[in-house]
Amino acid sequence: MLSGILLRKQGIKVQWITFETPFFSSEKAKQASKTTGIQLIVKDITPIYLEMLTDPRCGYGKHMNPCMDCHALMFNLAGKIMKEKGFDFLFSGEVLGQRPMSQTMNSLRYVEKQSGFEGYILRPLSAKKLPETIPEQQGMVNRNLLLDISGRSRKPQIKLAKEFGIKNYPSPAGGCLLTDKGYASRLKDLFDHQDSYAERELHLLKHGRHLRLNDTAKIIVGRTQKDNENIKKYYDPNMDTLIKVKKIPGPIVLMPNNGGKDVRMLAASVCVGYSKAPDITPVEVSVTTPQGHEIVQVIGVPPKEIQHFLIQ
Ligand code: SF4
Repeated sequence: MLSGILLRKQGIKVQWITFETPFFSSEKAKQASKTTGIQLIVKDITPIYLEMLTDPRCGYGKHMNPCMDCHALMFNLAGKIMKEKGFDFLFSGEVLGQRPMSQTMNSLRYVEKQSGFEGYILRPLSAKKLPETIPEQQGMVNRNLLLDISGRSRKPQIKLAKEFGIKNYPSPAGGCLLTDKGYASRLKDLFDHQDSYAERELHLLKHGRHLRLNDTAKIIVGRTQKDNENIKKYYDPNMDTLIKVKKIPGPIVLMPNNGGKDVRMLAASVCVGYSKAPDITPVEVSVTTPQGHEIVQVIGVPPKEIQHFLIQ
């Protein structure tokens, strides 16, 4: 928001682009666009993002976050749109030294080189600490009116937000599931066990407990009503198995991509174990596979006995 307004104050027409994947949304950008009146293009980049995510050149950060290659890819895609739409350069709100990995001088340089738009990426908040860009050299942007913010403190940005009259702005951290420990473990497990996956499987990683039963089968157990609703939302009846205890309150259990009879019986026992069914008593469980529907009788397995299956 700050860099957009800063450029607009120079009389430069600016527009934003934001990207969506199952790992991050465009909500904050949409909110910022509403607040500032700066037009926003929203683009879903899931397929191309997944190609990068499975093997990022610079590897991952603390969890499954490939921040450097993520930035490079986003600038590359934004650059293509810049060309298509006849814009002159790219800009971002990055601040030199703000983040330990992705915003060091070397990282900013790496991103710029890999993006394919070297010289065309302006970081207005830190511009005076960075080499002059082509739009500055060509007089499209007045470098004297840009800033020299650097470092981890956000005080200068907070002060600037006040000056610009921006009261509502998002908190700096959060928003990307690839930096979330639990989500990252589940995603890594998926990558380790499947060569391909549907987009809905990436959404399913956000909900419920995930248990790996064997190399080819895992189950998702709803913890709350909301989890159960979300699991059903991403359930594909042509691919998955859905398990639910009959007549007794309990979780929805989903086994993506089906699984054999033995593993289905195990999944049904896990489902009973997490339900309100009495201990050591056979109960009826409804199992729906892509091939059909059946009722099986199983005894629940207590959750404490299946801790080793949990992906965490
Ligand atoms: S936190 Fe997520 S969205 Fe942000 S740069 Fe890293 S991988 Fe990309």
